[in-house]
Amino acid sequence: MRGRLLLREEGGRGVALGTSRPSVALVYPNTYEVGMANFGFQQVFRLLNELGLRTERAFYEGGPVTSLESGLPVASFDMVAFSLPFEGDLPNLVSALRESGIEPLSSLRDRPLVMVGGMCALMNPCPISPFADIVVVGEAEAVLPALVPVLREMWWRPKEKLLEAASHVRGVYVPGMSSGVERVWANLDDFEPVSPIVPQDGAFGRMVLAEVGRGCGRGCRFCAAGFVYRPVRTRSAGEILDALDGYPTPTKRVGLVGAAVSDHPELEEICRKLVERGWKLATSSFRADMASSGLVEALVRGGVRTLTLAPEAGTERLRRVIRKGLSEEDLLRASRTAGRKGIKRLKLYAMIGLPSEGEEDVRALAELVREMALEFRSEGGREVGLTVQPFVPKPATPFQWAPMADERTLKGRVRILKEHLSGVSIGRVEVRGALLQGLVSLGDRRVGMAVYHHVVEGLSWREAWRKVGWDPASLHREREDPLPWDFIRHTTDGDFLRKEWEESLIGGRDDG
Ligand code: SF4
Repeated sequence: MRGRLLLREEGGRGVALGTSRPSVALVYPNTYEVGMANFGFQQVFRLLNELGLRTERAFYEGGPVTSLESGLPVASFDMVAFSLPFEGDLPNLVSALRESGIEPLSSLRDRPLVMVGGMCALMNPCPISPFADIVVVGEAEAVLPALVPVLREMWWRPKEKLLEAASHVRGVYVPGMSSGVERVWANLDDFEPVSPIVPQDGAFGRMVLAEVGRGCGRGCRFCAAGFVYRPVRTRSAGEILDALDGYPTPTKRVGLVGAAVSDHPELEEICRKLVERGWKLATSSFRADMASSGLVEALVRGGVRTLTLAPEAGTERLRRVIRKGLSEEDLLRASRTAGRKGIKRLKLYAMIGLPSEGEEDVRALAELVREMALEFRSEGGREVGLTVQPFVPKPATPFQWAPMADERTLKGRVRILKEHLSGVSIGRVEVRGALLQGLVSLGDRRVGMAVYHHVVEGLSWREAWRKVGWDPASLHREREDPLPWDFIRHTTDGDFLRKEWEESLIGGRDDG
């Protein structure tokens, strides 16, 4: 019922459904609102249908999963494909299978075939490997055009033969069969920069999503989106504007998305022209050193009232360690500019538990946020909110060797922050959730099995870890240790990452 309502109210060009088998239920292991704000999810929905496979969307909101387009149970499809951008959604993936009557473990399942892609899958597919028959490690646009013909041709053959054939496609990992996998990437010029569908709700509700680029060259050492989507690719202003001209949205609103939106060399021009053509704008977070007067003015004219900046850390020293490349003056200036140009709400992102962080860094973060709020309000801004996330080390970044802070330390840091900050609202800090994310981020197959024992067999986390014979506290790895994802050839090589990690340690010293 809700599905039919959503379908009727969605805008955009829509997607003509393919007709051939294998049919695919494309599942986002979280709500409609979260899934449809994800450009990659929409892109895969479009691609699979364009390649001919009948593909319908589905979302996991608790209980058996049914498709949005036809309302059929996902268990009735030939394949279930998951998009998994966030580590925290792995338990949802397992629940979605179980509650839909599908055996979660691939070794015990014949059909439907389960395929997984998305940022988590491409960074470290090991914790997903007990459940997935096929993992798309490369970018979907580069992998699916080669993979779909194989699936179509081999569909009727025994599962073993089908997977064997799929394992030869570049960018595909078949657990238990593939040895090395290359992280292939797409030429974005060959693909439309706008989402086919305008979702009803969510962060980008009632907006078409326009992808301005992929990857980021800044090299912040914690940032997966920057590293794993390299090489950096930028969509031209002309391409974005052409795609939006005549685009059927209910309300002519566009969300500009990408890892580094504010680094786009033509962003001001894009915003100005969109506003002239009657578009309302929204964007993801901005780098403070790119928030120029002209750009912020263009955003405000486009209806933007909230600007998101990410100082990430409170001291120059710690920002040097993480290679954020922002000075205190950059952050204060951006706050003033935002207030002066008519931004009403400043949203700030920061992390706690960063490598080499001490309590004094957290107190300095509170002070920095307080000063940014003062500067913002002195120029006419109103509300300031801080979102704090515990640092989670990510594979294929220089911080893949960094230790993750334990629960006690993280909770202590949150307490310090709250004690020293007034006049700024702090969102709930998900310490437990972050620790699970860290395990999925850096773990191996045993993490997936622990999730299985917890979700399917109802064991407590403690019992689940014991059953797989793993101590979650042993997550940290030294530089010489083999890493579970070593078999993936990412675009950034290990020597470079190692050098960056060593330099971050030097930067963390007072004389660094
Ligand atoms: S945090 Fe932002 S600026 Fe830094 S690498 Fe990631 S996307 Fe780029």
